[in-house]
Amino acid sequence: MNKSLHQLLAVEELTPETFVLHFERNGFQFKPGQYAVLRNPETGEAREYSIYSSDRDERLSFLIRKVEFGDFSRYLRHLLPGSTLQIEGPRGFFVLDEQVLAGQPTLLIATGTGISPFHSFVQSYPELNYQLLHGVHFPDEAYGRQSYAPERYQLCTSRQEGSDYFGRVTYYLKEHPVEEDTICYLCGNSEMIEEATNILEGYGLSPENIRTEVFF
Ligand SMILES: Cc1cc2nc3c(=O)[nH]c(=O)nc-3n(C[C@H](O)[C@H](O)[C@H](O)COP(=O)(O)OP(=O)(O)OC[C@H]3O[C@@H](n4cnc5c(N)ncnc54)[C@H](O)[C@@H]3O)c2cc1C
Repeated sequence: MNKSLHQLLAVEELTPETFVLHFERNGFQFKPGQYAVLRNPETGEAREYSIYSSDRDERLSFLIRKVEFGDFSRYLRHLLPGSTLQIEGPRGFFVLDEQVLAGQPTLLIATGTGISPFHSFVQSYPELNYQLLHGVHFPDEAYGRQSYAPERYQLCTSRQEGSDYFGRVTYYLKEHPVEEDTICYLCGNSEMIEEATNILEGYGLSPENIRTEVFF
């Protein structure tokens, strides 16, 4: 497991609350879908973040939302290029298996920054046979939408119209049945994951074909 200091190369602002931190990679090896622990080398405080970049990228990148009253995400928001952070990992088992890589239909369901591991999947495996459902509050939170083929990406907004679907991803799932042989990856908050899992099981998907990563 890697545990080393990485210099921040650039901060890319996506919305007032959301940004991508691009670090030098320094040979950090990972499988798309895994996460790393980012640690403040001065205080020792740390949090987990999914890796946003592809396994071929020269940089190691993370998509982060500044959480209101959140200690660590606010600290990350104020980092300037040139600062260094300790990065530990890779960690986690939220990775694609042989069936998915062989072309089995795959449904990716994210809320908010839960789209981060899916960005890494799609950038690392351009041939992936996927559909992506991204749930956010407002239409301008379609982080990195241009990274996905338009016919594979559905934006669901729960608080304002102007997206592909007005309503939560779980409402979308209730209205759009999923084939039993689909492999599903769910990433985001625990409430969405629990509700979406129940809906998918109701469509006859087996539990081993529903893989989850809970952010909070
Ligand atoms: C495996 C894993 C991968 C993760 N990947 C990412 C990622 O790619 N991008 C990312 O932005 N976060 C990710 N997270 C969440 C991240 O680790 C932190 O929890 C988050 O940045 C908040 O930390 P904080 O110190 O700012 O807030 P804290 O001070 O720890 O919490 C403040 C309050 O905010 C709530 N909260 C925590 N996280 C969120 C959130 N994301 N949205 C809304 N409310 C929240 C907490 O419940 C708490 O009430 C991941 C978590 C896990 C476990």
